[in-house]
Amino acid sequence: MRVVVATGNPGKLRELSELLAGLGLELLSQSALGVTGIEETGATFVENALLKARHASQRTGLAAIADDSGLEVDALGGAPGIYSARYAGAQADDAANNTRLVHALFGIPAGQRTARYRCVLAWVLRADDAQPLIAQGLWEGEIVATPRGRGGFGYDPHFWLPGLQRTAAELDAATKNLISHRGQAMRRLRSLLQARQ
Ligand code: IMP
Repeated sequence: MRVVVATGNPGKLRELSELLAGLGLELLSQSALGVTGIEETGATFVENALLKARHASQRTGLAAIADDSGLEVDALGGAPGIYSARYAGAQADDAANNTRLVHALFGIPAGQRTARYRCVLAWVLRADDAQPLIAQGLWEGEIVATPRGRGGFGYDPHFWLPGLQRTAAELDAATKNLISHRGQAMRRLRSLLQARQ
């Protein structure tokens, strides 16, 4: 069965293809099929993931998978949340977003800097599928002011894992995929898909 993945990111497509191997799915990126992304107008990760999946399915006539993810910082009331990619503005890069994050948490003591990454994956069989599958993953950590590590992307150099005594940017890709919000959500989606076969 051919499935469109609502991403243009080859890394995400590869990771998802590996984690969903053996289910008889051929994953294709929406950009390879000429589909451009849709504006993320939802109020939650679930809404945005569903919007993207329905859009990709509607444009291609295929089943579709989409993800939406971000960072939730408790001391900031859950911000940047669904705005994680554009926290410091529409054109913001990782460095600008991280600078804003560090400033926003200035003066907040160590014990109150808890945060988590959240990833939601949505699967639809058709654009108007009334019973979409939704899989979530959470990854708990703390935000540190001093960046550490060169791996990962986004907020990873500031995302401290107390249990491992390192930041997410200090993990190799395989370790991150094993424990991250995205890895967890992908494995849950695999179980949901297996359960409905
Ligand atoms: P997207 O869902 O891939 O568009 O990610 C949304 C934003 O959330 C990214 O641009 C990052 O700012 C942040 N984010 C999501 N997952 C991660 C991660 O694993 N590491 C660092 N930042 C992340």
